[in-house]
Amino acid sequence: MVADGVVVTLAVIVLGGNNMCIICVGIDNKTLLPWEALRNSDEMWDATPDDHKEELDEKIALLIREWMEQNPTKKVDI
Ligand SMILES: [Zn+2]
Repeated sequence: MVADGVVVTLAVIVLGGNNMCIICVGIDNKTLLPWEALRNSDEMWDATPDDHKEELDEKIALLIREWMEQNPTKKVDI
């Protein structure tokens, strides 16, 4: 999937000025559910700048924790 990789890389570059990627944008805009962010980060891991991976990981972990606090009774298969 070379084409996907190119699109992802471009998105990271365009939005990456301040250590942001399209996943962070989705998280900040609340357009991504936690497991969607998780799956996207999995797919984009190779295109994610090394110095952003830890930040992204923490951001997703926080998103999952927040979601679970807000939805304590829901069960989700991640
Ligand atoms: Zn990001």
